[in-house]
Amino acid sequence: MSAVTRCSRCVLSEQFPNIRYDGDGVCNYCHDWDRAWKDFDFERSERRLVRLFETAKAKKRRYDCLVGFSGGRDSTYVLYLCKVKYGLNPLAVTFNNGFLSEFAVENIMNSVRLLGVDHVMHTIDWSLLKRMYRTMMLRAGEFCSVCSAGIYLVRQHYRDLYNIPLIVNGASARVDEASPFEVNCTHPVYLRRVLRESFAPGEIDRLIVPREYDLGLWDLVKRRLLDRGHTAVNLPDQVPWHNQEILDTLMRELGWRTPDRTKEHVDCRYAALKYWFRNQQMPGFVFKQEKLSQLVRDGQMTRDAALADLEKAIAEDAEPPVLDAFLDQLDLARDDVADVAGRSHRDFVTKEDLVPRRPAALRAVLGAKRLAGRLLGR
Ligand SMILES: [Zn+2]
Repeated sequence: MSAVTRCSRCVLSEQFPNIRYDGDGVCNYCHDWDRAWKDFDFERSERRLVRLFETAKAKKRRYDCLVGFSGGRDSTYVLYLCKVKYGLNPLAVTFNNGFLSEFAVENIMNSVRLLGVDHVMHTIDWSLLKRMYRTMMLRAGEFCSVCSAGIYLVRQHYRDLYNIPLIVNGASARVDEASPFEVNCTHPVYLRRVLRESFAPGEIDRLIVPREYDLGLWDLVKRRLLDRGHTAVNLPDQVPWHNQEILDTLMRELGWRTPDRTKEHVDCRYAALKYWFRNQQMPGFVFKQEKLSQLVRDGQMTRDAALADLEKAIAEDAEPPVLDAFLDQLDLARDDVADVAGRSHRDFVTKEDLVPRRPAALRAVLGAKRLAGRLLGR
């Protein structure tokens, strides 16, 4: 490990895409993080948040907010805060990705019962979902983008169904890994490109809801003009989010269970495979370094503790015991993943492909809408 150059503050290595170190050995990602979060005013941010919640409640809809609920630590805590601390009436929505761990299922059922919230488990025909996972694995060497699309799908679907004014997420730019394009991609443009050879458009649309870049100009304009003022907020970016304290609260208040306090994503049976495949595709990269670096920057972990964790991850980077179950569930053979190292999302999209187009006509409509809003005092 000593042979690898790492940032002197976080633990990002010299293999990290686009990394640069300053004279003190501090990386550009640490400086980016400081600019966004170092002087972040949490008290002010929470006051803003409370105003947003009061506005949502004042609409007196069936639900004040929607929480995408995986049964993992962060989304469970989001649901807990929404209901208990902020007094919102949330609808919890789970995308059944087919890989929910027994811990996730138990935590989901316990949490919604103890919190007294309405909950939906949304399941897509498994034969279709399985073909999608298989196709992504065989062509691009990953499967997480399918689940990401499903999570987005259920959020939009139930928001529209019940006209819910606010979506509250458990994702965070501050403490979650913030992978650059070179490392990770779950973008629907990429997903559609990989799937379109093997799936009819109608099938793809059952997983991937059309977003702005999929729409023609007229639909874009219509959507913007008829936008009913929905909004979304990432709660961990607005209030302090200390992983170990959150676990204590969930265990105490909701009987929450985890097989390992130090592990992320205990809600997915195959989370370990995500990292194992990725580490093969990017030799020497060690996927875990990103999350650890964020926790060091956020003061939740010392650099020494993160280095020790990383050392452990490198030493233990062997075939996860769940591989056979995963292959079995997707009707894949060991040979199908033997050369996973040679596959990547980058075979299908470039960074430039993902820059949203904003036609001049749309910009004009948005400008006019803003102006009208100002003139009407809204
Ligand atoms: Zn750094």
